[in-house]
Amino acid sequence: MKSRGLAALKASEELTQFEFDRRELRPHDVGIDIAFAGICHSDIHQAREEWGPALFPMVPGHEIAGTVTSIGSAVTKFAVGDAIGVGVFIDSCRTCASCLAGLQQYCETGMTGTYNTFERDGTTIAFGGYSTNFVINEDYAVHIPGNLALSGVAPLLCAGITLYSPLKTWEAGPGMRVGIMGLGGLGHMGLKFAHAMGAETTVFSHSPEKETDARAMGADHFIVTKDPLTLKPLRKTFDLILNTVSADLDINLYLELLKLDGTLVVIGLPGKPYAVNVGSLLDGRRRIAGSMIGGIPEIQEMLDFCGRHAILSDVEVINAEYVNTAYERTVASDVKYRFVIDATTF
Ligand code: NAP
Ligand code: ZN
Ligand code: ZN
Repeated sequence: MKSRGLAALKASEELTQFEFDRRELRPHDVGIDIAFAGICHSDIHQAREEWGPALFPMVPGHEIAGTVTSIGSAVTKFAVGDAIGVGVFIDSCRTCASCLAGLQQYCETGMTGTYNTFERDGTTIAFGGYSTNFVINEDYAVHIPGNLALSGVAPLLCAGITLYSPLKTWEAGPGMRVGIMGLGGLGHMGLKFAHAMGAETTVFSHSPEKETDARAMGADHFIVTKDPLTLKPLRKTFDLILNTVSADLDINLYLELLKLDGTLVVIGLPGKPYAVNVGSLLDGRRRIAGSMIGGIPEIQEMLDFCGRHAILSDVEVINAEYVNTAYERTVASDVKYRFVIDATTF
């Protein structure tokens, strides 16, 4: 199957037009006409090799929303015409304890990413969603509720699930004080979810101009972080803090904000280790945890939750030719709040 999209040919170069072939449908595969592909900061980290050596040519994109155009002979989960979503992985071992529990992202042999890796055959480069079409085994795709616009859905497949999952794991709800660090693609979804779940929400942002938007999305409090002194009065007041910041920062300033037994969940991946003061952890039996996207059942649960609560990502829809500019603007925290590529423009 012919496909057209954008690829990074090496880390130091801008993305450029790229044509390639996708596999013909196997019995359990679905063929997808991509409508929109979100730009996740992880795309930028990988295309620029900020996480170490990457695999080129790289067609990034793991926030994919589209329509099923063909199905393999054994497909039961989807029909032609269904709205369909694909996220950060396309396969896993299916047999380990994590896979059997529906936590494919934590597959003991490693999930197979949507791009920047080989497919499970070990030889075919996986090409991502900045492209016109996609082929995937039906078990690794999800249904999109009919009341949601596909442009605002695409970012849910990574940004959405990545914040929904820790909020569910740490049981965000009424009576809980939840902090969201960074109001970007991930952070704005975390804010919407935490608010919809009934938690008291605080956004920590280094962009003062985002306050009005944050309040409209459900922020009860908005703290500008440029001066660390603004954090002092908030010591020992949070149950849960989700760190989505893509850049290096002093994690200890935020650990200090946790109450007894509070948890700071690390989600942003700046590519450099954090320096943690032991004292910031001991005082209050605080915890640091990590969380990575979510498994297929939880992604479906999140999309159904969005359908019920009419939750979408706030997006700037762009044409393919704007992607390199969009990368620069994302790195500069200048996007409201996720760039989404119109796949008809590839
Ligand atoms: P994004 O849209 O660029 O948002 C990141 C936000 O971090 C920015 O909007 C900004 O928020 C804040 N920030 C950026 N630079 C900063 C700086 N120098 N100082 C302080 N704050 C800064 O990125 P994203 O797509 O949401 O991704 C966020 C991070 O999560 C990335 O590192 C990405 O790779 C990672 N990620 C992790 C997972 C996972 O499963 N754990 C999944 C997807 C992505 P303010 O303007 O409000 O300060
Ligand atoms: Zn992502
Ligand atoms: Zn597995």
